[in-house]
Amino acid sequence: MIAIRCILGSVTDGLQVPDSPISVDDIDARQWFSDASGQDIELTIDDTLLGDTIRPSLRDVESLDLHRALSKLTNNPSSATKVQRIGLIFAGSYKPKPTVLGLMFDWGKKFAFDRHDTSEFHGVAREGCAIFLDAIRQIRPQEDDYRRQIGFTAIHELGHVFNLQHPDVSEPPSFMSPSLQNRAYTSQDGAYRFLTSDQQLLCQCSQSPYIWPGGSTFRDLGPLAAADFASSEIDNSDGPVLSIDVSPREFWPFEPVELDVQLTVKSGCKSWYRVPDIVDPGYEQFTIWIQAPNGEVRKYRSPRHYCWNGNRITVSAAKPFYRDISIFVEAGGYTFNQAGTHFLHATLQAGSKRLLVSNRVEIYIRPSRPNDAKYRRMRDALTKPSHVRLMYYRRASSSQRETKVLEEFSNDFGKTNSAAAVRYALGRANMKAAELVKNRKRSQELMTKASRQLEEVSGSPFLSEHRLRVAERLLSSDSGTA
Ligand SMILES: [Zn+2]
Repeated sequence: MIAIRCILGSVTDGLQVPDSPISVDDIDARQWFSDASGQDIELTIDDTLLGDTIRPSLRDVESLDLHRALSKLTNNPSSATKVQRIGLIFAGSYKPKPTVLGLMFDWGKKFAFDRHDTSEFHGVAREGCAIFLDAIRQIRPQEDDYRRQIGFTAIHELGHVFNLQHPDVSEPPSFMSPSLQNRAYTSQDGAYRFLTSDQQLLCQCSQSPYIWPGGSTFRDLGPLAAADFASSEIDNSDGPVLSIDVSPREFWPFEPVELDVQLTVKSGCKSWYRVPDIVDPGYEQFTIWIQAPNGEVRKYRSPRHYCWNGNRITVSAAKPFYRDISIFVEAGGYTFNQAGTHFLHATLQAGSKRLLVSNRVEIYIRPSRPNDAKYRRMRDALTKPSHVRLMYYRRASSSQRETKVLEEFSNDFGKTNSAAAVRYALGRANMKAAELVKNRKRSQELMTKASRQLEEVSGSPFLSEHRLRVAERLLSSDSGTA
């Protein structure tokens, strides 16, 4: 048994925090976690600091604000490997995604190219989480609904602090399920409980660093991870078909390579399928598997983590689903660090009995060539963190000088995959920027530039079919509105 103090704090002045906020059905988090863990977790809820806003008071917060508030709240030493004080922070809303109701932000590692290059991010893992009351009020205006949602989200996020993950989409509702869109769960839904598999993990809290807060990075369950790939017997004889491709198949680790993913049906199949809209490594149910040259197989580590919102996509012969995923970077840095042959495949858990397994793609990671001038120029242009961010998020940097460096790069390296990928990313980033800029003239300039960049790559043999289609679609919608 371990005793854990959960300290409540607020970073926003004037929030409407209900009395005993982390309870549902008049049962508080202490009781829920004690029952679910077979009394292994003894949680104390400490609201004595809740009255004084942690300074500075902010309405919309970013991860860094939350990390800073958390260390003030818990006061845990930065070298701790297991902690007995965790924090739950109340705030207005989460700036990068204002509709998010709660967030487990403390992964214990940072995304290598994150703007906030500070130690808070890779300090102690799983020390706390946050709840966003303005966002909750927005979708739950009615008082009872508001209170229920706060209690549910608080227990859900605390579950993440104990390293619990979202359940498979086919499981019945539980605390770790995504919230409903139109209302909060009530006791009639049966969602106020932890699944047996989660209870089995919580029971090991005092024994296992993979559950104990601070003991391992978020989502790293070590030996407790279910052997989710090879274990289950699954019928794949019919249903949607998952396939992947990477182009080019040979590249240096810093080249902005994307994985193209396609969901379709077998040729001649006349039916259609509804598939959860989770084709993104930010969902646990979609996994990209990487086999390194030494034979080791691991999962691609997404820097993001999403809660499924219940949306589904329809897939049929007439309407296949495509998307591309930047895979050259992952949480922690570049994805491919060893030169040599790698194999990639993807899996999508599309229901309890339906695991889709893609084809396998062989790629070759080129060894570094520090004596080669072309290699050095490419490396120097592509490895700047702000450039990596632009290529990964396709969001333009505020500095025009930096975009200029990339433009020059794409001109100089004209007939290469990287040049085409950079130009495509610039085109999309400029298009996004054009929509956001208030100044009409500047917006039109950006739009013209974006159209030119996308036109230059349209039909290019160096871009994947998917990106060619996106470029085409963006160009036609642009000319329609201009
Ligand atoms: Zn969640």
